[in-house]
Amino acid sequence: MKDQRLDDTLSYMQVLNFLSKLANQIIQEKDRLNSMDAACGDGDFGTSMYIAFSNVRKALEEPHNEIGTLLTSAGHSILCTAGGASGALFGTFFVEAGKHAKGKTEVALPDLAIMFDASMKKIQTRGEAQVGDKTMIDSLEPAVRALQESAKAKSTIISALQKAAAAAEAGCDSTKDLVAKHGRSRYLGEQTLGHADPGAYVMVLVFRTLAGT
Ligand code: ADP
Ligand code: MG
Repeated sequence: MKDQRLDDTLSYMQVLNFLSKLANQIIQEKDRLNSMDAACGDGDFGTSMYIAFSNVRKALEEPHNEIGTLLTSAGHSILCTAGGASGALFGTFFVEAGKHAKGKTEVALPDLAIMFDASMKKIQTRGEAQVGDKTMIDSLEPAVRALQESAKAKSTIISALQKAAAAAEAGCDSTKDLVAKHGRSRYLGEQTLGHADPGAYVMVLVFRTLAGT
């Protein structure tokens, strides 16, 4: 078991860098996200995410000084632009993480576990999806569990984020065998079998990008 060093944290600049890389990645993957949503839903997810994360990029140009307002501001940029079910939910993800990082200029692994657990719970309060319903929760929940287990084991942030990204990937893969129960995808029912959920895939990008920061 590795010792958790007191200076093992993500800084404000690292979180800013993470948001910037994530926004670029989502913007680049617009067409792929639309095709994934065409197989599972109505095909608008890539366009909604493109508009939302273009707005996030603008928000990142403002000075925020600390991680809480940075994440909250990114979340509000998504809430005020994105359509579809996912806009409200991804916006909630960042706003809630920001609330739990209020005033912090760096975050340690236990902070990250608390922030993303709170985000997941708020998304579930709003959207009522459980693991197995073929949504972003199928990759977010295992990623949050992995962070919590790593925090308990006092592992390093990088190892924790790599495990969280791997857990999110496995969760996203599992959505291929599931039938959608939420959003517009639910109208396609069994036709969604064999296709990964695009919202679950974006959560993979979140944790992969964090692990690369
Ligand atoms: P819509 O279904 O309104 O077209 P989007 O295309 O914007 O929504 O987003 C689709 C994604 O949103 C799905 O891939 C899924 O991951 C996520 N999603 C939809 N409904 C829910 C929900 N109730 N809880 C969690 N995630 C959801
Ligand atoms: Mg859609």
